[in-house]
Amino acid sequence: MPVVFTVFFRMSDFVPSLGHFGIGDGTKFNAPYIGAIKESIVNVIMGYYNGVGARFATTTKAANSIGIEVEIGGIMGQFGSFPGGSSVQESGAGFAIRSNIFAWREESFGVLLAPGDHFRAKVGPSSILFRNQDQKSDDSKVLNEVFGPLGVARDSGIDPPNDPKATKPRTVTSGRVEGQVTDLDATNTSVSVSAAGVIKVTTTNPSVVPAQRASDIQRALNAFTNSVGYIAAHELGHCLGLVAKADPKKTSVTIPGKGATLSPLSGDDEGHNLPPHANNFMDPGETIRLRTIFTPGQRLAFRDSNRKYLLDCFPERP
Ligand SMILES: [Zn+2]
Repeated sequence: MPVVFTVFFRMSDFVPSLGHFGIGDGTKFNAPYIGAIKESIVNVIMGYYNGVGARFATTTKAANSIGIEVEIGGIMGQFGSFPGGSSVQESGAGFAIRSNIFAWREESFGVLLAPGDHFRAKVGPSSILFRNQDQKSDDSKVLNEVFGPLGVARDSGIDPPNDPKATKPRTVTSGRVEGQVTDLDATNTSVSVSAAGVIKVTTTNPSVVPAQRASDIQRALNAFTNSVGYIAAHELGHCLGLVAKADPKKTSVTIPGKGATLSPLSGDDEGHNLPPHANNFMDPGETIRLRTIFTPGQRLAFRDSNRKYLLDCFPERP
């Protein structure tokens, strides 16, 4: 049977998070472009699992989640400053996923079915602003290039005292529109989302939304959804057991009457691919640059051993 993922948008956290990036004022569930944003994120996640035995559902109610859930929320706390995290929770505090799939119990797949015994994957988009800490870094530069025109302060971050700062309001100066994206922008543009999750924003009324403003909004929406989609897909990779381990101390499985055996799947013995890193899907997050994942349609390649593991363990047509 294919594995089922549910992408759960926790709107009470997600909407304020959108506000930190200048998309709406952070208070309304019906934020500007919200439908396109959610559709794009889901399409980006699904794009990483083309050809794999995975099926997707999406919900804004946690109780509706089936299979393995990834929550798209606001700010990551539990996992430190990274924008995403995964853990297995078996009574009490969760622990980071480190063992491979053969070490997991059947109940582990039942999100919300057995309290205290489930996978948790979570993405906090606002934690991307942590990359603004070093303002000389390219991550910080691209954050400002892309979200500055939407009113995000140059020094907005998630580390005190630079907690996400209020975005500048929408202003019109000599025909140039800047600042927070509002309903005025949404109602004077058309928006579409491609199967690959790329968002297109076109003005339908250039006197209210000049072409440049539509282009600024389009670039920011794509940077947001392409990066959040990648981070969510990466966390789900952990939930499926990536990266597969080869260390016998971690992967030895005892089969009654047959003795101990090892996973036949090669892999590295950490949570992520070992160096050298080359923008691969399961490389450690801190080696991935924002400029890469902000690019519309940009997909990080699977390392061969990761791809083989997925196709062997989760074939498209089991
Ligand atoms: Zn990871």
